[in-house]
Amino acid sequence: MTAAALATPPRAPVVLAGATRAELTRALAEIGVPERELRMRATQLWHWIYHRGVREFPAMRNIARPLVERIAERFSLTRPEVVAEQVSEDGTRKWLIRMPPVGPHDKGAEIECVYIPESDRGTLCVSSQVGCTLNCTFCHTGTQKLVRNLTTAEIVGQVLVARDRLGDFPGGVAPTDGLVPSGEGVRAVSNIVFMGMGEPLYNFEAVRDAIGVLTDGDGLSLSRRRITVSTSGVVPQMEALGRESGAMLAVSLHATNDALRDKLVPLNKRYPIKDLLQACRDYPGASNARRITFEYVMLKGVNDSPAEAKALVRLLKGLPAKINLIPFNPWPGSPYECSDWPTIERFSDIVFSAGYASPVRTPRGRDILAACGQLKSESEKLRARARMMLEENLAVGLD
Ligand code: SAH
Ligand code: SF4
Repeated sequence: MTAAALATPPRAPVVLAGATRAELTRALAEIGVPERELRMRATQLWHWIYHRGVREFPAMRNIARPLVERIAERFSLTRPEVVAEQVSEDGTRKWLIRMPPVGPHDKGAEIECVYIPESDRGTLCVSSQVGCTLNCTFCHTGTQKLVRNLTTAEIVGQVLVARDRLGDFPGGVAPTDGLVPSGEGVRAVSNIVFMGMGEPLYNFEAVRDAIGVLTDGDGLSLSRRRITVSTSGVVPQMEALGRESGAMLAVSLHATNDALRDKLVPLNKRYPIKDLLQACRDYPGASNARRITFEYVMLKGVNDSPAEAKALVRLLKGLPAKINLIPFNPWPGSPYECSDWPTIERFSDIVFSAGYASPVRTPRGRDILAACGQLKSESEKLRARARMMLEENLAVGLD
């Protein structure tokens, strides 16, 4: 063996699980697949990776062995690692997922992904960033130092992991220790919400490309109507989100006047309510059949009066809207409290009488949150926060 050969470390395999079509095609070109075969080979791989959910290349039976071997030498189908799984009594599942390091200084980000099964659907709440650069005063994620965008593959990877675990790929076996929705043609993961950590519109390209992978009809085939992206109000990106992804929109409104929203969602100083609502009116594809969800976190004595409920209804007049009232989820040192239940009910009644369905459901998966308050380290706090936030949002009326 020559010195040069000794000095060259083996290249780490490039992960194809989570790749876009363009990336897959490039990967095949890189290992010498001839130009004229590229499209066909990429389609074959796509089918195996996303439709069948295979985790090893030799399972790809219609691809010639020598080519499979070449692909396997250079690439892998490894998913992000599930570090912990918790299953609630009500069937809610949470996975703590560790992403492989993206560079020499990255230790491998950890995020949480929550799965909420119902009788006719299963909703997966995914993260778009580790942490968040915005500082909404009621949100713990914004107080975390560690922030980075997730890649397209890391976003898609959360869905692959969930489908693996839920037996949602052909030949998969559903877990026996929790619920999965039943009924003909109903998939375990039928809906996706970008309501985990991070501001999806600050990671626009990766989120858009991930939605492209998730909705591709030859692969995971999720319906765009069943994918919802929640934003704190990044107005300049909203039109592009609708046009380029076709996803449903959720907007974190939380206040009915700029003075209060400036405090709760500081991004409001840059994009005030008037501009935000105009962007909602202009959102491509919004209609009564594809309503925009307005999220409203219930903060005791801050934004929960009957007058504010009426103002909310006035503000949304003429918009194809639905309203999600989210009971505030306190965290250690948080400057707010959750509104009392009768206050939430009164608020909800006013909104309901104005013609909006505003269910405030019993939060799901409370039992597996029990240990949150005891967590100590920064990354554990981060986990606890992600857990709390995802829980609460999925607890209220999403379809
Ligand atoms: N960054 C995006 C999406 C992630 S946050 C956004 O802000 O929309 C998802 C939802 O959780 C948002 O509506 C957010 O306002 C809400 N949220 C954040 N902290 C919360 C808390 N402590 N209790 C209840 N909801 C919270
Ligand atoms: Fe970021 Fe959303 Fe939390 Fe605001 S509410 S800090 S935008 S994750």
